[in-house]
Order: sequence, then structure tokens, then C-alpha cells
Amino acid sequence: MWKRPVLIFLILIVLAALSAVALDRNVPSEHLPWRELDPDAPLGFATKSQMLRMSLMPSENCMNLARDAETFNSIPADPKETKSVCGWNVARVVYGSATTVLRPGEANMQCPLAIGTYMWLNEIDALAQEHLGSNLSRVHHVGTYSCRRQNGNSSGRWSEHAFANAWDITGFELADGRVISVLKDWNGKDKDRKAFLRDTRNKACKIFRVTLSPDYNKAHRDHFHVDMGPSMACR
Ligand SMILES: [Zn+2]
Repeated sequence: MWKRPVLIFLILIVLAALSAVALDRNVPSEHLPWRELDPDAPLGFATKSQMLRMSLMPSENCMNLARDAETFNSIPADPKETKSVCGWNVARVVYGSATTVLRPGEANMQCPLAIGTYMWLNEIDALAQEHLGSNLSRVHHVGTYSCRRQNGNSSGRWSEHAFANAWDITGFELADGRVISVLKDWNGKDKDRKAFLRDTRNKACKIFRVTLSPDYNKAHRDHFHVDMGPSMACR
């Protein structure tokens, strides 16, 4: 019959296949890189790789996910053409979620950024309850789209803002009316607010390709920047 090494090899293959099946059945999808992203699942070990894979697929895939997400309040945006490289083909107009709105009330975002925003809003809401005992009701922001190069330079790489692929956030308003400000509270006296802001930044790092906070540089002392561009950063 078969020689012993061959038999051991075959047994190992069968065991690996069985454990893959067991993993797939018993481990939540957010921890399994081969599963499709579920925007309503909690963040897991595989969320970021699932996000990347989704953003590399045809945009229809992302648009369907956004349409089907449980409480995501967003609609397809009209394409924006400009004379320069700026603008977008496929994007969404994002208003918020069932419980959270944006202030100002809407933002155009490329679809993967929009999906990431939806997932982040759900995480921030949970953090607001955990650290501050109130729900998140509004996110104060200064927009997504701006046709410019990085750091406002006149030459060099284009900013992800030029493609509505980046979002700048200045504060978080709770249901009880308190406003947690990146500028005032990042290094403020209130420990709960500081912890909330740091955890909020850290959750963003698990979703977006780039997350920048006041820890990054002085230009970011008053806002968080998140984007879905080709770079990677969490500061
Ligand atoms: Zn920015």
C-alpha cells in the first residue's frame, strides 16, 4: 500500500481541510479574511483585509453593500467631472446612520470610504456610551472633497480629498448635547473625553487605510483625517 510519509501527508491535508471547515462554521466572519465584508458585523481581525479586497473589486459590489447595510443613510451620488484629475465616477452622498447625522448634513464619499464611515459611526456610538454614558448623535466635520494637492502644495501628489476619498472630522456631539472637540479635548483635562477620542482614533485605524490625529502633526491638532487611498498610516 502507501508508504508512511505519503500517508502522513494525506492525513495532514484532511485535518487541514476539516479545520478550515470548522473555522468557517464557528468563527465570526469578521475574523476570516476569505469572507466578504459585512458592514454590520463588529470589527475583527480580518476587517481591514476584507475592506481592502472590497475596495479592489468592481464598485458595484461596494454600492450593493452600502445599499443593504442595515441603518446606513446614503444614496448614490452623481459623478463629478472636472477639467483636472479631481472628482469621482462612483460615490455616495452620506447622511449618517439611523441614530447619527453629519453636521453639515451630508458628504460625498467614494464608496469604500462611505462604507468605512458607516462602520466607524457604529463603533463611535458604542464608545460614546462606554466612556461618556450617552449616544452619538452628530459628527461635526469639515468635508471630504477639495481639489488640491497634499499639504496644500502647488505641485506633487494629489490629496485623497481631491477624489472625495478622505474625510476630516472635528468633533462628536452626544445625544445629551455635549460636544467632544478634537481641538479642545484631545489634550484637555477630562479623562473620559480623552479616552473616548483616543479609542475613536484607534477604531478608525482598524477600518481606514490612513488615520491621522493630533498625534501626527500640528496641522491635525483640530481634526481627524481618514482616507482610503493607497498609503497606510495610523498616527
Ligand atoms: Zn484631510
